[in-house]
Amino acid sequence: MKPYLKRAWAEVSLSRLKKNVEIIKSLSSESTQVMAVVKADAYGHGDEHIIKFLYGNCGINYFAVSNLDEAIVVRNCAPDAEILILGYTPPEYAHEISMYNIIQGVVSTEYANQLVKNTPGTLRCHIKIDTGMGRIGLKHDTPQSCAEEISEITKIKKLSVEGIYTHFAAADSDDPNNIAYTDRQEKFILDTYDRLADMGIKLKHCHFMNSAAVCYRNNPKSTLARAGIILYGLHPDTSLAIPEGLEPVMDLKAVISHVKTVKKGDCISYGRTFRAEHEMKIATVTIGYADGYSRLLSSRGEILVCGKRCRITGRVCMDQLMIDISDVPEAKAGDIVTLIGRDGDDRITADELADIYGTIGYEVVCGISKRVPRIYID
Ligand SMILES: *Cc1c(COP(=O)(O)O)cnc(C)c1O
Repeated sequence: MKPYLKRAWAEVSLSRLKKNVEIIKSLSSESTQVMAVVKADAYGHGDEHIIKFLYGNCGINYFAVSNLDEAIVVRNCAPDAEILILGYTPPEYAHEISMYNIIQGVVSTEYANQLVKNTPGTLRCHIKIDTGMGRIGLKHDTPQSCAEEISEITKIKKLSVEGIYTHFAAADSDDPNNIAYTDRQEKFILDTYDRLADMGIKLKHCHFMNSAAVCYRNNPKSTLARAGIILYGLHPDTSLAIPEGLEPVMDLKAVISHVKTVKKGDCISYGRTFRAEHEMKIATVTIGYADGYSRLLSSRGEILVCGKRCRITGRVCMDQLMIDISDVPEAKAGDIVTLIGRDGDDRITADELADIYGTIGYEVVCGISKRVPRIYID
């Protein structure tokens, strides 16, 4: 493979990442440590590079991932870091969890028992409480009964319970009902933590903040801030602003491979969904849906060429797409174009693309495919 084939590539700015970390740290209290969420290949940014940089250059010592394979990548990049697996690991792999000194999220008493049965070592864990997300975790009507179940789990031999955590379902909303809902989720875990303390069980960690909570409802009682999307400079929800200074870390670029003039009535791309209404200058660009640039952007998305926005004409193909460059006479084959990022005074973000076709920035960056090399700049 060519080390840097100028076709379609993502530029990942480490200096912007570092600045985002500094802003997140400045938003958090002294009692809260930043836990970098690097699941899904660091939200598509390339996990090894991102983890090494966060660990070596940004003072990050806590990482969260979705599964054991991702956790082992973190362990290899960050030898002394604390690593939490947020999601499911089959109990058969418990010995690897202990061997790599990883912390597993535990979702039930039964699961805790299965894990310890499968490892000769001590298994470190944080217990997940479902306070309203409805996904995984212990579910109870009262903090008291929740604390009682956790208290029993702490008695399991070879299990080291180091914390409890929960996940907010709607912390990225300013709707009063959602705020009240999140308040109740937060109160439930804090009360559970206090009930445990009353029983003499003092846990090192109690955490519930995700990116949205860091931005809109910072609470010093959360010992960890599990920051994902804001680390990469995107919005938990585009309807709410994020703190000043957070910048998107990933840009997406491609080149113009071909330029032509089409006549009134000429069709562009599959299905003939685009027909020129007058003479136009059309450029072909070397990126398509197989690169993770969604076909849902057909005839809707815009691309920056020489600092100007150019509309996609017709359907996005697997490896290529066409744009209208009638207003950019200087554009020519070989020019670099910006699908995500800044060019001149204008900027297109992953959040903007997500809004066009009805998803979230998370899915856009996670969806940039393996074919697209990540180039680390600054
Ligand atoms: C993914 C995830 C996060 C990070 O969420 P962001 O919105 O990206 O900050 C935090 N906690 C849990 C349990 C998660 O699954």
